[in-house]
Amino acid sequence: MGRSNSLRTKLILIMVLLIVALMAVVGVFLTRGLGRFYTGRFYAQMETTFSQDFLLELQEVAQDADEPAAQLCELLMAQPDLGIDVATRNVFVLDKSGTVLASSSGATSVAVTPNLLTALGGEVGQTSAEASNYMDVAVPVGDYVIYVLDNKATVNDLTGEVLDIIIEALALGMAISIVLAILLSRILITPIRALTLGTRQVAAGDFSQKLDVTSRDEIGTLTRNFNHMALVLQSTLTEVENERTKLSTLFLHMTDGVTAFDPSGRIIHHNPAATQMLGRELDPAVTFDELFGGEASFKAVMALKRPNFLECEKKVGDRELSLFMAPFASEQAQGGALVVLHDVTEQRKAEQTRREFVANVSHELRTPLTNVKSYAETIISSGDELPPELRSRFLGVIVSEADRMTHIVQDLLTLSKFDYGRMEMNFTQFSLAEAVKNVCEAEQIDAQNHKHTFTYTLPEDDELAVHGDQERIEQVVLNIISNAVKYTPDGGKIEVFAARDKKKIKVVVKDNGIGIPEKDLPHLFERFYRVDKARSRQSGGTGLGLSIAKEILNVHNGDIQIDSVYGEGSTVTITLPAEKR
Ligand code: ADP
Repeated sequence: MGRSNSLRTKLILIMVLLIVALMAVVGVFLTRGLGRFYTGRFYAQMETTFSQDFLLELQEVAQDADEPAAQLCELLMAQPDLGIDVATRNVFVLDKSGTVLASSSGATSVAVTPNLLTALGGEVGQTSAEASNYMDVAVPVGDYVIYVLDNKATVNDLTGEVLDIIIEALALGMAISIVLAILLSRILITPIRALTLGTRQVAAGDFSQKLDVTSRDEIGTLTRNFNHMALVLQSTLTEVENERTKLSTLFLHMTDGVTAFDPSGRIIHHNPAATQMLGRELDPAVTFDELFGGEASFKAVMALKRPNFLECEKKVGDRELSLFMAPFASEQAQGGALVVLHDVTEQRKAEQTRREFVANVSHELRTPLTNVKSYAETIISSGDELPPELRSRFLGVIVSEADRMTHIVQDLLTLSKFDYGRMEMNFTQFSLAEAVKNVCEAEQIDAQNHKHTFTYTLPEDDELAVHGDQERIEQVVLNIISNAVKYTPDGGKIEVFAARDKKKIKVVVKDNGIGIPEKDLPHLFERFYRVDKARSRQSGGTGLGLSIAKEILNVHNGDIQIDSVYGEGSTVTITLPAEKR
């Protein structure tokens, strides 16, 4: 409000000053003009009055009259332009010494003026100073001087009148100019006030108000520009806001942890992943050195030049974190440092598993290879001395070791096909009861060899219909039954059941064999994992059977589960989805 008032005051002041200046100029010109007009008219009248004829007549009276002064005075007063108003214009008749002999007003003396002096000297005096408050003419006639004096009363009266009018006009003009200034200021101030309000709203973040453009003048343009500016600002802000939301969403949901530090090393940002990885609350008082001081110093990170960064590792509990540290800075702000945390535990585990796997494969192949080599060398070195039955036994070992290696390589190939999704499956609908029966019949002899009591209880064919690769499923069942036979001391008891349970079919292989220690149970499906290496190898096992079984069942949406009590026996259950009946 203060501003609009000051604008109003300024406008009023300008208007009033304008009016005063105008009136002053008009006043000055008018009064001077009037003065000039009157002086001009006076001398023109004198020119006409004192014509050649009138001068001759005056001279005659001056020479011949009895009382020349009085008569001259009378004659002069008879002239229309001289005898008008005694208060304004007077006629004097003087002698050459300057003594007043007669006058229209009866005055006996007169002030000596330059014109009068001129006339006393014998010349006509008719010059007038504009500034003087009188105008006069002095004419020598014979021995006399006729002197006409006008005291400018008429002019002064008129000038006073004019000044009064001007002052009245000035007062009226001032009143009008104040009213006009108020109106004008209102016209100017209303849109400015709207603009002020608009800028305040924009500053407060409210872009919804569009100001009305009420005029086509500069204020109208300003309002239009303001509206445009608000629009641009709004869209820029929306863009910035979108970008910010995008970034914060990314920040919130990214699996890598991110922490940011101010130039003093205090934490300013962190995402949930960082909190989880570091396993602690990250309140604002936490510093870089507190968190990562053991891996790198804050100073060293801040000293880095873009795009360089520091890479190091940190162990938090059983997790391994890979840290990437870099400074950041913007042109306006001082910046700070960023640390990105990447959980590499699984990666490291995978690397470890791969290394172990390679070691296992080499180890598994090295034993039979060593055997093959040593038996072959013995055969070669002993030549014909080797008894034929020993020789054929050695050759038998070589063949069985070669079979064993082939077996391992085949199993590895099968697993690798599963790993790369290249395993070809031949899906058909078949009876699981029949498949299990086939395997049981095949294993019967082996079980008998070990003097096991081997029983299998299978329901009717169509009850156990499944959709899958029969050959592969038979491979799984064969592996489980042969494990039961292998890991049960001779004379044991092996039972096989198969049954439908709602939408699932279960095949259970139960033995009363050596069992599996509890600590080994979670690892049975790992490649090359064996509880008793020597026993497994001895019985021709590769330690890959259960891994392959698991992969095959995965493809069939099935499952495998092993329950065991060490020393008492094991129960292996496989589950497959049943086909609709
Ligand atoms: P393997 O070729 O050694 O039999 P598997 O993958 O089939 O390999 O089995 C992995 C390990 O699980 C075996 O080495 C053995 O120690 C254990 N195992 C499997 N089945 C049984 C069972 N019925 N009784 C006891 N141990 C078993």
